[in-house]
Amino acid sequence: AKVYNLPNWGADLFSINKKGNVCVHPSPTSKHSIDLRALVDDLIKRKIKPPILLRFMDVLQGRIAAINRAFKYSIDENDYPAKYQTFYPIKVNQQRQVVEAIAKFGKRYNIGLEVGSKPELVIGISFATGNGIPIICNGYKDKEYIETVLYATKIGYDITIVVEKMFELEKIIALSKKTGIKPKLGIRVKLSSKGTGKWATSGGEDAKFGLRMSEIIAAIGLLEQNDLLDRVKLIHFHIGSQITKIDKIKSALIEGTRVYAEMRKLGVGIEYVDIGGGLGVDYDGSKSSYFSSVNYSIEEYANDVIYQIKNICEDAGVECPNIISESGRATAAHYSVLVTNLLNTNTQNLMPDFEEELNGSEKLAPTVKKLVDIYKSIDRYSLREDYHDTVQLIQEAVSLFNLGYLTLNERAMAEWLHGKILRKINGIVEKIKPIPEELQNFQLSLRQTYFANFSLFQSVPDSWAIDQLFPIVPIQRLNQKPDVMASIADITCDSDGEITSFVGENGRTKYLPLHKIRKDEDYFVGFFLIGAYQEILGDMHNLFGDTNAVHVTFNKKTGYKIDTVINGDATWESLKYVQYKGPEILKHVRDNLEKDVALRKVTIEESSHFLELLDRTLLGYTYLGE
Ligand code: PLP
Repeated sequence: AKVYNLPNWGADLFSINKKGNVCVHPSPTSKHSIDLRALVDDLIKRKIKPPILLRFMDVLQGRIAAINRAFKYSIDENDYPAKYQTFYPIKVNQQRQVVEAIAKFGKRYNIGLEVGSKPELVIGISFATGNGIPIICNGYKDKEYIETVLYATKIGYDITIVVEKMFELEKIIALSKKTGIKPKLGIRVKLSSKGTGKWATSGGEDAKFGLRMSEIIAAIGLLEQNDLLDRVKLIHFHIGSQITKIDKIKSALIEGTRVYAEMRKLGVGIEYVDIGGGLGVDYDGSKSSYFSSVNYSIEEYANDVIYQIKNICEDAGVECPNIISESGRATAAHYSVLVTNLLNTNTQNLMPDFEEELNGSEKLAPTVKKLVDIYKSIDRYSLREDYHDTVQLIQEAVSLFNLGYLTLNERAMAEWLHGKILRKINGIVEKIKPIPEELQNFQLSLRQTYFANFSLFQSVPDSWAIDQLFPIVPIQRLNQKPDVMASIADITCDSDGEITSFVGENGRTKYLPLHKIRKDEDYFVGFFLIGAYQEILGDMHNLFGDTNAVHVTFNKKTGYKIDTVINGDATWESLKYVQYKGPEILKHVRDNLEKDVALRKVTIEESSHFLELLDRTLLGYTYLGE
């Protein structure tokens, strides 16, 4: 577990059992767990093929509970005189079953939903219907969006429309006049405080959204003139997702709460301060301010929020507001794990073996012979010199081959010796400390590419787009020392589809320790903490579609229960996205084949077998089978 740093990023939700398999726990304190490898084996028996996205609904609930528990604790500790509420930002993961679970389980915490577009608004309204879940509307809004919110207000929904821009306010006022409906309003503030990391530009002067201080003054005037100022109930700010440093959060809280306090003093009856998202996830377990990590816990975050807001309100002599956070990433990241098989590409038995030629090395070309000598004599004292010589001899072998002085067989032997020498060096290097500086990176040349049956672009797009780290761990054999240093390539035809940065024991590493895959062995890896953003940002590169998804809950009697299986895209479905129709393709091919059958170029049997294969491909999964 240590080489993957699992104890540090796992949030006590993942562990390794005696068999050496990764387990998932419903909550950090639970004694129960599900053996991931056993679960995947059972799913395969059910004919559900990898890649499989496993969604652990208890983990999702546990994260909601953890965030709310932390705020409740801080509120009690600080005698904070108002309430806290999470609004789940639907954009983080819009899957119906996910929002459904959040809405249902979140009821006890009075959870709300945050929407940022018309489709998300429709989702919000559908969940709010009949059970009073409150909605906050962010994002750019057109007439249709605003009118829908106005009428929703009129017929009883608890829905707040957040003004992101001055021009939006004008539209809202005009439509409110026209319809005679007064909306519940929020104002998004453009703070000068910025976040950190990849999303720092969501805050600060250059931010896309929010009103500057002068615009807030103008907005207050405009709302007063139009008799709507008393409808302003909330101020909102968001300085970006995955804020890595707690001091950036503090600065934003101070500035945002100061704006609240000043607006209250101007007589605006704001009841809620919505601090947006930003609560980060420690993806690599380093607890640092590096962007795949965060240097604070949920508890520290909650304490700072409550303390800073209370402090500023008391200093300013204004009432403390109710607090809302739109914590999406921290809610959803942990609940899903993608499991897939690594392709067994071990073809070692097919490779030429030059072992015998090591003895009669006098007959070999001088360059190859020198490599043989190095291989035989290398030890810890000659290590550095032999390493330099090997590098130089390999370059020499390539030049000699290009000039026609080395045969293909000799060059192959040089290549084989190179690998053997590097492995021998590695064996020696592992025993000496400290490792000589120039040898530290040489291990990379031993890195082997393992192919995983998945598309990086579909399943972990942020790994490609922004170099985000996600923990990747084999889900079995963790009681055996890994013996291969690997990179993980996906099955798209894109050389960008390879992961070469991993979560390691001491931070980011350039290889993933894996095991040699045995003949006829199924070997699976899990991609962890991928529940936030990845599912919806994924694209269909090479037309690899949605993966199979399985919703799992813990069950005391049976260990686990499969709640739902959502089939991944079949090939015909992937083709449909780009306007092809499976039956039309089949008909086109069949009609053409009939012509060839008539001309006796193709037999009836060949034609029907080909059509059968094509049909099976269309109906099958887009990922690799056997
Ligand atoms: N609220 C708003 C307005 C956002 O733009 C975002 C995402 O960036 C969020 C909430 C969710 O943030 P996070 O996932 O960091 O909690």
